[in-house]
Amino acid sequence: MIVGAGIVGLTLGLELKKRYPKANVCVLEKEPQPGKHASGRNSGVLHSGIYYGRDTLKAQLCSKGGARMRVFAAEHGVSCLQSGKIIIATDEHDLPIIERLLVNAKTNNLRAVKMSESGIREIEPHARAHRFGLYCPDTAVIDSIGVVKKLWNLLREKGVTLMTGQEVTAVKPEQNIVYASGSGYRYGYFFNCAGAYADRIAKKFGLANDYILLPFKGIYFKLRQERSDLVKANIYPVPDVSLPFLGVHLTRVISGDVYAGPTAIPALGRENYGLLKGINVSESMGIAWELVEMYFKNHQGFRRLVHHELAKYIKTNFVRAARRLVPEITSADLIPTDKTGIRPQLVNLRSKKLEMDFIVEQTASSMHVLNAISPAFTSAFAFAEFLLDRYETDKAGPGPLPARTGFG
Ligand SMILES: Cc1cc2nc3c(=O)[nH]c(=O)nc-3n(C[C@H](O)[C@H](O)[C@H](O)COP(=O)(O)OP(=O)(O)OC[C@H]3O[C@@H](n4cnc5c(N)ncnc54)[C@H](O)[C@@H]3O)c2cc1C
Repeated sequence: MIVGAGIVGLTLGLELKKRYPKANVCVLEKEPQPGKHASGRNSGVLHSGIYYGRDTLKAQLCSKGGARMRVFAAEHGVSCLQSGKIIIATDEHDLPIIERLLVNAKTNNLRAVKMSESGIREIEPHARAHRFGLYCPDTAVIDSIGVVKKLWNLLREKGVTLMTGQEVTAVKPEQNIVYASGSGYRYGYFFNCAGAYADRIAKKFGLANDYILLPFKGIYFKLRQERSDLVKANIYPVPDVSLPFLGVHLTRVISGDVYAGPTAIPALGRENYGLLKGINVSESMGIAWELVEMYFKNHQGFRRLVHHELAKYIKTNFVRAARRLVPEITSADLIPTDKTGIRPQLVNLRSKKLEMDFIVEQTASSMHVLNAISPAFTSAFAFAEFLLDRYETDKAGPGPLPARTGFG
């Protein structure tokens, strides 16, 4: 039984069917269609994996997952373009981080080339780097919604039971029963891939006690068609390595449009896509309380993040972030879009820090994916393999393998 038809749940379903063709696999999804949340609202970039230190799950899974995703796209006719990306220093403080990213590239066995400002201009003529930047040739853009739809159809063809409009609201873990939208379902093994709600479901199993998922809103602007030639492929700033967000970047997506974004604005609801839409008073009060505590503790420069990100609700500040990459961009060049995503970010309640890596917790008959933040889309196929390897080998975890048909 899998809860959540985002990229994590769907790739896991496919991997289950690959390893256990006769397994009775069921996906429960609360929305009428798959991919209505993060998996259908992201930047659509297949990251190379350069941001992550070697000892992280992200480093282990990102480039492998990206390669798998490209093969999947080629096999199933999903649009994907290996357009490469540059990461540019915008001031002197960024230069040591460029060196750190190069070390990551070396240890993670990734292709990345350090380039001078003039070298960067040969790739992106309108970008302005402060002295140096990096070129990552393996970055690609992909039709994320196309991937999700293709996976959904494949799972159906392979006999997976796909149930939409089924919101998991309660579980009886001791009896292996889950309740969704008024019905009870018995499962052999339970995979929680519920994205922004994964912590809530895990808590019903007695897990994730140290964590809460907090929502951060990503809004995007788009370059006017006539000005889209300012960006050839992907232009990213050097990230703040203490935070899990990459900063406003410029991405030529698979349709050819160039998007600027996303922000990482603290939001007041896990589905707070509009200004007030998706806000539920009791949930919002809990979120606000956590944010205030984090603001005062100020780990990872959280206060600065809040100030910078909230400011981006005002267009001039957003434009300023884009102009750090391409100074020719003007306010008139950027038009608002309705593309908005929410990043459910796991916060450690003890340390009041944002967790940087993917986190998985488990009981004897359940596994919970708790922090499927970026680059979980890129990593998804490798992540699914990792989850099932863990299921199969972790003796301290799920225990002896059930019959190969025991997943329903
Ligand atoms: C703005 C933005 C930009 C991003 N850019 C990139 C990028 O360029 N590259 C990249 O690799 N990653 C990117 N990411 C991250 C990536 O999109 C996510 O990491 C990934 O999509 C997470 O997938 P998921 O399946 O865990 O979650 P989701 O896609 O959110 O899926 C979870 C599913 O579970 C369902 N669900 C939740 N609760 C329940 C319940 N109680 N019962 C039943 N169903 C439930 C939801 O309806 C949803 O369909 C970005 C994310 C955002 C928000």
